[in-house]
Amino acid sequence: MEAVATDFGIKEALQQLGVKDINEGSSTGSNNFSNGEIIESYSPVDGQLIGKVKSTTREDYDKVMNVATKAFLTWRDVPAPQRGEIVRQFGNKLRALKEPLGKLVSYEMGKSLQEGYGEVQEMIDICDFAVGLSRQLNGQTIPSERPGHVMREQWHPLGVVGIISAFNFPVAVWAWNTALAWVCGDVCVWKASEKTPLCAVACQNIIAEVLKDNNMPEGISCIINGDYKVGEFMTTDSRIPLVSATGSTRMGRIVGKTVAERFGKSLLELGGNNAIIITPTADLKVVVPGAVFGAVGTCGQRCTSTRRLIIHESVYDKVKDAIVGAYKQLTIGNPLDEKNHIGPLIDKDAVDTYLTAIEKAKAEGGNVLVEGGILEGEGYESGCYVKPAIIEAENDFEIVQHETFAPVLYLMKYSGDVENAIAKQNGVAQGLSSAIMTNEMKEAEKFLSYAGSDCGIANVNIGTSGAEIGGAFGGEKETGGGRESGSDAWKVYMRRQTNTVNYSDELPLAQGIKFDL
Ligand code: NAD
Repeated sequence: MEAVATDFGIKEALQQLGVKDINEGSSTGSNNFSNGEIIESYSPVDGQLIGKVKSTTREDYDKVMNVATKAFLTWRDVPAPQRGEIVRQFGNKLRALKEPLGKLVSYEMGKSLQEGYGEVQEMIDICDFAVGLSRQLNGQTIPSERPGHVMREQWHPLGVVGIISAFNFPVAVWAWNTALAWVCGDVCVWKASEKTPLCAVACQNIIAEVLKDNNMPEGISCIINGDYKVGEFMTTDSRIPLVSATGSTRMGRIVGKTVAERFGKSLLELGGNNAIIITPTADLKVVVPGAVFGAVGTCGQRCTSTRRLIIHESVYDKVKDAIVGAYKQLTIGNPLDEKNHIGPLIDKDAVDTYLTAIEKAKAEGGNVLVEGGILEGEGYESGCYVKPAIIEAENDFEIVQHETFAPVLYLMKYSGDVENAIAKQNGVAQGLSSAIMTNEMKEAEKFLSYAGSDCGIANVNIGTSGAEIGGAFGGEKETGGGRESGSDAWKVYMRRQTNTVNYSDELPLAQGIKFDL
């Protein structure tokens, strides 16, 4: 094993998860096929090399696809509730391994340990949801206009589902997709972010053991490693009827087009530019933690991170002072140390993007309320630790219109009615998450109405981040329109079939059409 941080039990966590350095023997799972260039995974926490995986070549990919397509023929024959039973066992295994997996998430990605555990908890929750769902993949019966006929709708598995995921939720997004896809009878091929490959190996090891215990082919779950070029193997492959892709709008624009060209389905979960509207009746006890956690949690690297606060002019100064005051309490450092609120950004490129955004905001006339900047010195050697910044800005600044994946919060005023705030909130290209802080029922209802927020997620008196798995998750406009996780999001993982059965002795045609022979 190459250098691995011994503090905070990372070495033990890796051992418990069966994640090895490639020199010690490759990881278990379909990952064994991968034979290409080495990908090294460095922790943003302390800059150390955690481990390596090999990337997947085109030839390796075809082997994976053969294994997956073959496994599908076995898996679709397993009754859905029995598939649910295997997902239940997977959830239990995650319960047992929550601590080491949460630690690895925190160490490889850089989010706080609490958020790392939270991510694994989301995986467990979606497994529980999927177990129940495995007995509820219900179709409908539909009255037929023809005598002696019956119509119904059935849901069948799709086949191989391709999953492309982002670095910031290195395990949960995979589980949101797989837990549902598996109970629906699909098998999954996952290309995780090239920035968090070891989290993917750990997840594959966990499910591989469950599948083995149940004498099921491991091809039900496969991983492939690499960057966008490996992702393209899937987006261009007509053997993959559904590609679920989570990442930037830039990526989604390419993936959506490529998959559509071959008439595949895509589920796109892309960037956000999320705002909280703070009205005159907002309760500061709720506003401050909601806004601050939203803006600095995961170091501003959540798709649902709060980027903009749209504050009524009558309470602007009060809210501004409270938020700026709360920023003074924040502690930044090793995210495995639970006394720290904020860990590092994912890498130095992300640091550059963050610094550039601050410069652009200043150049456009932004007024810096809380200075940003890179942290240096002991504990910050990785060069990825930054200070969360607050800038007064206008909604139409070019930089405000873009998602900067870092802790930069823009404050802006609105005057008059809540409609003016809603117009600002909707006045961006993205449409993921939104929130209003108000004790005025009419304002809340306006915000939630068809004329209100245009986002996939609209909250009242909570922040923009921190969704539960029970609801459908996703957003509109440049966020891509996809929905995953709860509610009826499962339907995207299945194909709908309409059946009409004639049990009469006649053949009446629909719409009363006569065709006499
Ligand atoms: P990214 O777009 O750089 O990469 C995401 C994934 O897409 C990676 O696995 C990458 O290898 C792959 N990829 C990139 N180009 C591709 C292509 N042309 N073909 C196939 N695959 C390709 O995003 P990131 O930096 O890892 O993550 C941050 C972004 O993800 C932010 O914009 C964030 O808002 C978004 N995100 C959205 C959600 C959501 O649910 N809406 C959730 C998490 C992250």
